[in-house]
Amino acid sequence: MNLLLLECRADVGVDPPSTRRRGAANVNTAASMHPTLVDIGLNLAHDSFDHDRDHVVATAVAAGVRHMVITGSTLHSTRAAIDLARAAPDRFRATAGIHPHHAHEFHEADVPALRSLLLEPEVGAAGECGLDYFRNFSPPTDQERVFRRQLELAVELGKPVFLHQRDAHDTFVAILRDYRPRLTGGVAHCFTGDERELRDYLALDLSIGITGWICDERRGHHLRDLVRLIPADRLMIETDAPYLMPRDLTPKPHSRRNEPKYLPHILAAVAACRGEAVEVVAAATTRNALRFFGFEK
Ligand SMILES: [Zn+2]
Repeated sequence: MNLLLLECRADVGVDPPSTRRRGAANVNTAASMHPTLVDIGLNLAHDSFDHDRDHVVATAVAAGVRHMVITGSTLHSTRAAIDLARAAPDRFRATAGIHPHHAHEFHEADVPALRSLLLEPEVGAAGECGLDYFRNFSPPTDQERVFRRQLELAVELGKPVFLHQRDAHDTFVAILRDYRPRLTGGVAHCFTGDERELRDYLALDLSIGITGWICDERRGHHLRDLVRLIPADRLMIETDAPYLMPRDLTPKPHSRRNEPKYLPHILAAVAACRGEAVEVVAAATTRNALRFFGFEK
């Protein structure tokens, strides 16, 4: 972890050696204290967790990840996410929504079902919803229709939105601008974009979710600088497990399945890149997430 810290600071290249020493000490302190963290994006209903879901949660909690937001991406996975959250409502929230990949399966007749799921007390946000033109698993017209419909529901029900966007930035932002004044809040989950995208999101008063992508020295390098531009009150962290395993874990896990227990590793990378103490970033991201997803009411 210290190596990562130094590496990250060296990349950013602004911190004097004395700050590095202080930063390293902070990481060590955090490791023993396990600050409370919230994983805002965890696909806990995914079948790769079917055989050991309780263990996955228990090891995450032992690592300080005391709250988790379970992503819903279809009606079916939303129901599963709500069922999981209901078993331990202090620990979990769910999101209720249709991922753009599944937009072609969602029709107007399905709206009442989604609306009633959104009204469940375990649901902390609408989504994940948005646009994904990377492979266009759903035609863009379906994606835009279903994205707008979910934004309308979020406005109607006063829910914040959990947003997904890939290779669709300009259309995504244009649609969001229509709804943003009436939305209670939004988080751009798994942000991997460039500075222009980040500034557009911040101008829309969105929060930003950072995953282990920031630990990827090939694809995530730009994020190491950009993460400094995110105001502390807009920053959240997430694993997106079982996807997006941080690439720089040592020793390398045997399984390629990502787990919420790796969230402290992402926290350490974010803190190092921002030149802030781990505890400071932990406190800010936890406060933001608890409020955003309605853990505190
Ligand atoms: Zn996503």
